Amino acid sequence: MSGQPTDIVLSALQQMQANGVRLRASLHTCERLRATSSAAATPTRTAARTTQPVPTSAAPADPRGRSASAPKIEFPTLSETKTGAPAAPVPAPSSSGKAAVLEALRGPVLACTKCPHLVQSRTQVVFGVGNPDAEVMFVGEAPGADEDLVGEPFVGKAGQTLTKMIEAMNFRRADVYIANILKCRPNMPPGEPGNRKPTPAEMNVCKPYLIQQIEIIQPKVIVALGGTAVEGLLGIDNAGITRMRGTWKEFRGIPMMPTFHPAYLLHNQSNTEKRKVWEDMLAVLERLGHEITAKQRGYFLTK
Ligand code: SF4
Repeated sequence: MSGQPTDIVLSALQQMQANGVRLRASLHTCERLRATSSAAATPTRTAARTTQPVPTSAAPADPRGRSASAPKIEFPTLSETKTGAPAAPVPAPSSSGKAAVLEALRGPVLACTKCPHLVQSRTQVVFGVGNPDAEVMFVGEAPGADEDLVGEPFVGKAGQTLTKMIEAMNFRRADVYIANILKCRPNMPPGEPGNRKPTPAEMNVCKPYLIQQIEIIQPKVIVALGGTAVEGLLGIDNAGITRMRGTWKEFRGIPMMPTFHPAYLLHNQSNTEKRKVWEDMLAVLERLGHEITAKQRGYFLTK
């Protein structure tokens, strides 16, 4: 059907190619997704899991670290120290035509009703935000309550920590692209606060949208935020983020760095844990060939 998201994106990609834009695997991927999307299974309605207990700094059991009363975390912000003022969140202009293709995908995704149980509970679909020409794409598991209300990924306390991480890498938030595997907030029992992990079935149904975003943006590096995101992307169980973080993986031919979810750092504020995440980001910067200052290299090193 011509109104299907994959058809719209395929048509836009063909237009881009006709205009001389070099594409990597987008056309092929869209054609394959179009062939399979009609067969996508409706997810099994799973019993909602309640939010896990908030880990203490003495027992950092949940690297996703969900909580509304998290303490503040400080990440150095190079863009602030350079300019004396926070960088304005103005998206970088896209000259590649990717912005138009992403926009063509956005409408159908915002109207998606593949998961009736999530359609019922969501405020809105959280599509993704950032630079269509981003070198780095940060991928989380699913929107939480804040994101569901605002319509943008990573806008709560964990999102603020992610923004500080990004700025410490000498990017602006608007320079990178941020998205989740699941575009709708996982539903919770009526009246129950907090967030729950998306199920593998839910992530599988929604993942084709993320794959299309990745194929359009063609980032040089993907950063997978937290164990659930790693599991969803790689289609594995029990990623064991503590063991897996800091080691390069690959997602559809793109280097992927697994690291802790920013929320984990809200509850584990030791320099040791911050340094682990920061070393993962240094590895990303090295992979991109970006200059790293001595000051950056020294962040969170215990004196
Ligand atoms: S989670 Fe994804 S697949 Fe499911 S209704 Fe939302 S946008 Fe559609």
